[in-house]
Amino acid sequence: MSEHPGRILPSPTGLNAELYAFWAQGQLRLQRCTRCRAWRHPPRYRCAACGSAEVSWELASGRGHVFSWTITHRAVDPAFEPPYAIVVVELEEGPRLVGSLAGIENSELRLDLPVVVELEAASDTIRLVTFRRG
Ligand SMILES: [Zn+2]
Repeated sequence: MSEHPGRILPSPTGLNAELYAFWAQGQLRLQRCTRCRAWRHPPRYRCAACGSAEVSWELASGRGHVFSWTITHRAVDPAFEPPYAIVVVELEEGPRLVGSLAGIENSELRLDLPVVVELEAASDTIRLVTFRRG
């Protein structure tokens, strides 16, 4: 676990609390509609594709590719040393996740770079998304 004093962490409630509970166990589970099978993220009460409230939490592959990113030069959170990248990755299943890099230099970022999701323990109950080379 990487402890950073003063690190800003989520305080999830509702559906987000369910999501973070799975992630705390190291399981990259996301919502999936049990009627039309569409993945949904971030968590929602109804499916954007068919409107159904029926849902299950299914394991995602964790494989994806870089969809977009931005480089931050002024840190809001002192736990992050600028310049650092905030990266959007599109998973094989379709949903996009936002996270930071692990073992990839900012200068190595490319569109469609294959990556895998790693859930980094930031506290006993919160794991955050990081991306490694896939
Ligand atoms: Zn649906």
